[in-house]
Amino acid sequence: MNTTAWDYVIVGAGSAGCVLANRLSANPDCRVLLLEAGGESRHLWLHLPVGYFKTIYDRRYTWQFQTEPQPGSGNRAIVWPRGRVLGGSSQINGLVYIRGLRSDFDEWARLGATGWSYRELLPYFKRSERYAGGANDYHGVDGELGVSDLRNDHPYCRAWLDAGVQAGFGLTGDFNGAQDSGLGAYQLTLAGHWRSSSATAFLRPARPRPNLTVMTGVHVTRVQIDRGTATGVHWMNGNQNGFARAEREVLLAAGALQSPQLLQLSGVGPAALLRRHGIAVQADAPEVGANLQDHYQARVIVRLNQPKSLNNDIRNPVKLAQMGLQWLFAQRGPLTVGAGQVGGVVASDLSRDGRPDLQFLVMPLSVDKPGEPLHRFAGFSAAVTQARPASRGSVELASADPLAPPRIVPNYLTAPQDLTTLVQGLKTLRHIFQQPAFRPLMSDAEYMPGNAVRSDDELARFARDKGGTLFHPSGTCRMGSDEGAVVDPQLRVHGVQRLRVIDASVMPRMVSTNINAATIMIGEKGASLIASQQT
Ligand SMILES: Cc1cc2nc3c(=O)[nH]c(=O)nc-3n(C[C@H](O)[C@H](O)[C@H](O)COP(=O)(O)OP(=O)(O)OC[C@H]3O[C@@H](n4cnc5c(N)ncnc54)[C@H](O)[C@@H]3O)c2cc1C
Repeated sequence: MNTTAWDYVIVGAGSAGCVLANRLSANPDCRVLLLEAGGESRHLWLHLPVGYFKTIYDRRYTWQFQTEPQPGSGNRAIVWPRGRVLGGSSQINGLVYIRGLRSDFDEWARLGATGWSYRELLPYFKRSERYAGGANDYHGVDGELGVSDLRNDHPYCRAWLDAGVQAGFGLTGDFNGAQDSGLGAYQLTLAGHWRSSSATAFLRPARPRPNLTVMTGVHVTRVQIDRGTATGVHWMNGNQNGFARAEREVLLAAGALQSPQLLQLSGVGPAALLRRHGIAVQADAPEVGANLQDHYQARVIVRLNQPKSLNNDIRNPVKLAQMGLQWLFAQRGPLTVGAGQVGGVVASDLSRDGRPDLQFLVMPLSVDKPGEPLHRFAGFSAAVTQARPASRGSVELASADPLAPPRIVPNYLTAPQDLTTLVQGLKTLRHIFQQPAFRPLMSDAEYMPGNAVRSDDELARFARDKGGTLFHPSGTCRMGSDEGAVVDPQLRVHGVQRLRVIDASVMPRMVSTNINAATIMIGEKGASLIASQQT
């Protein structure tokens, strides 16, 4: 057995884990080990911004988890890809950089996450950031994470925004600025020509430090807990087994599916579940793996009456060459796009408190499923999610085998308001498309849901049968001050000393928008909490 000792052992080099590795190893007196199951992120598609279309289902760089089939998703099992590479899911995601509503974080604080209100978190968002648009009250320029305004101007996206205004919505110039809701263009995690992932932004500059060791291809199988204290982690790499001793702390940053799985494998979780799998209970923690949340999306895809979609452009060799040149010489154009060019965060008519309850992500292209070839017709898509789902699912061990995937039960659309809000979102999108600024650009035949789908019941069936994930699992190691919370506001696991969870699992409620920016912030704040407690 290969045994080594470190001050901090971090499990998972994803959005949060790479930030931790950077910040903790900045102190030359700390010996930091970062363990990652995946490998180096060398492939071009992992770095070219638009490359996520290629990598999302590529098993070389991803875990391909699957949910249980559920009535809320038309009895379909939904594939949940997660990054399995340095950078984790930030290396394969859709690049959209949006932090969430400030009311999301104020709600965290109200729910017991003391110290996590928007005002208290803004400095951490700014600390990470290298915003190409320049410093202001909301953006930082001295951090590592490249953030850029949209670099692909498409006339039909502009027309969609105009149509949204005609439908009665306001505009925002910056979702991450003074006005966090409205319609507008998304910012993206881009640095120069390339995707700015947690690995390229935070890990790459820290790797030469002698006090940081990064091991790839290493699957952590459990945390060793001795008399209530985490003392290290067991790992395997093929036939090789090892133990990494943590003299200060073990930090789980394995993401919202695998951090709770690792806790359960280590004896921290619902006692009955652990006993069922023959695992000795170290701490009975019923909520480990509970509180699972995700954004479930449904889309409206319309046909344009001119061949002006990216669906057409990528099949035109001249346009394709222009795109390449535009990317190469101007760092702009369709090769720099993410999973949403423009969109919105708005309140539907069903929002009781006026707080935004819908997010839109709009693209001048169309596809049946991310990762599949673009449609051959001139398509334009708009996706909608319910911003703050009330449905709650769970992640639990399917087996005591650490290499087996966990059982994922998302319970999509089980809370009635989730379904009605999503239906309202689809109707709102259709209403926007029908406004004078967009209506003349479309043909009469809607591709999806399709002209035959009209009533609320038909739209609800469409959402269940054709909807999918926006890839945002979160909340499975809930932070709070109450006894039931999995971690406290310092992200320390209740019932076990020297063990923290620092990733998307700790969100008490998922933020209303995409969640990568908030997860990087959790890494940033988590590192600062640890540093402030060092003696
Ligand atoms: C396809 C896709 C598109 C997305 N698009 C967007 C977007 O446009 N904007 C946005 O804001 N968010 C987006 N997201 C969500 C966002 O990227 C994730 O929520 C975020 O990256 C999660 O960060 P994390 O640190 O919690 O986990 P991850 O980044 O997933 O990191 C976990 C790491 O731990 C490693 N690991 C897990 N288990 C073990 C183990 N046992 N041993 C060793 N290593 C282990 C994994 O391999 C991984 O590298 C997207 C996600 C996906 C998958």
